[in-house]
Amino acid sequence: MVAGSGGPSIGFISLGCPKNLVDSERILTQLRSEGYAISPSYEGADMVVVNTCGFIDAAVEESLEAIGEALAENGRVIVTGCLGVREEQVRQAHPAVLAVTGPHAYEAVMSAVHRFLPPRQDPFDALLPAQGVKLTPRHYAYLKISEGCNHHCSFCIIPSLRGGLASRPAGEVMREAQNLADAGVRELLVVSQDTSAYGLDLKYRSALWGGGVLKSRLPELAGALGELGIWVRLHYVYPYPSVDELIPLMAEGRILPYLDMPLQHASEAILRAMGRPAASEKVLERIAGWRQACPEITLRSTFIVGFPGETEADFERLLAFLGEAQLDRVGCFSYSPVAGAVANALPGQLPEAIKEERLARFMAVQAEISARRLAAKVGREMIVLVDEVNADHLLARSMADAPEIDGSVIIDGAWELEPGDFIEVRVTGSSDHDLYAVPVNEAE
Ligand code: SF4
Repeated sequence: MVAGSGGPSIGFISLGCPKNLVDSERILTQLRSEGYAISPSYEGADMVVVNTCGFIDAAVEESLEAIGEALAENGRVIVTGCLGVREEQVRQAHPAVLAVTGPHAYEAVMSAVHRFLPPRQDPFDALLPAQGVKLTPRHYAYLKISEGCNHHCSFCIIPSLRGGLASRPAGEVMREAQNLADAGVRELLVVSQDTSAYGLDLKYRSALWGGGVLKSRLPELAGALGELGIWVRLHYVYPYPSVDELIPLMAEGRILPYLDMPLQHASEAILRAMGRPAASEKVLERIAGWRQACPEITLRSTFIVGFPGETEADFERLLAFLGEAQLDRVGCFSYSPVAGAVANALPGQLPEAIKEERLARFMAVQAEISARRLAAKVGREMIVLVDEVNADHLLARSMADAPEIDGSVIIDGAWELEPGDFIEVRVTGSSDHDLYAVPVNEAE
């Protein structure tokens, strides 16, 4: 639960992905700006808001459990977030909840809060830092640039949960980014469901920014973010043609040379069944071009194995793609049906044993590639961002490591440093996921 002070008091539970975390931060910012205090415990709260996730069945379970716990401990609960679109399911499990609202429906959550716990009007409570309330460590922050998605991947229910693409105008995004940088944030993680599509719904309309105009389009926005003088990392970037325009920004050091690009599969038949563009050969060609233009680039992707209809040949095509693409970081899931997804009705659903076996084979192939690519960094010098200072070691990240999903750079010893400091290190060793390093001065 998240803490704060003064005014009627609200407990807040945030579940799910970084995108939901951004929603939570916006609701908390709004609550604080209206004078609500945020209670760190159920007992101290006048009411609890649970921001739920409903993406996979396990997340639904977790969300329903969290609602149950909040009801048992506090009794006055408002539910919001992805599970909110399934109001009946929530009310069936927990008839005592006060209100249920859907994802990114700030006004609806706020009006439910006002109805059950009116704000106290006190101008001092309305004081709020310009950067809003952050739930992530102070030195990095997620920056959500759009909501929803215009695709219809057959395994995904995000478009029905969160609606079609709705981008935030570039000026608004830049103001938030500037506030975060001014407040000491050293790294911005740009997130959305489909980052490359940013601005399409706005017809790439220009906004006023920095005494000029700025197009609401990803390469232009990334260029402007790159002027803030902090790390800018792009997530969920599908390989649309416009992505090529980002590579020079990376080569020039304006944004981090890092692309998180969910590819999901490499077999054309499976990509078609997934409802995704099927052009793995082109992706390989483009990756080669990006590496030529920006040799430092780190490529991360996610895949699904065991999708309905996946044959051994499809799976081997995927393994061959991994071998050719030589991606730095890879996440992989074995397919599991999501209630309401089109893929649930596809023929050729695979037994769990085959899915698990393919997942293990996939991970073994990629672990070797990732470990080899990390080992190639031993002996190099690099700038890292300190995440955690412990009594006998530091945990830091290089430009190649996104928080929470990638590895760390581990630096032994006791150091007088703070989270958010940048230091130069020399890499001395590597494991499957992490690097070991010493500060450059110590390495002399
Ligand atoms: S998986 Fe497909 S449908 Fe779901 S959010 Fe991503 S691009 Fe959109």
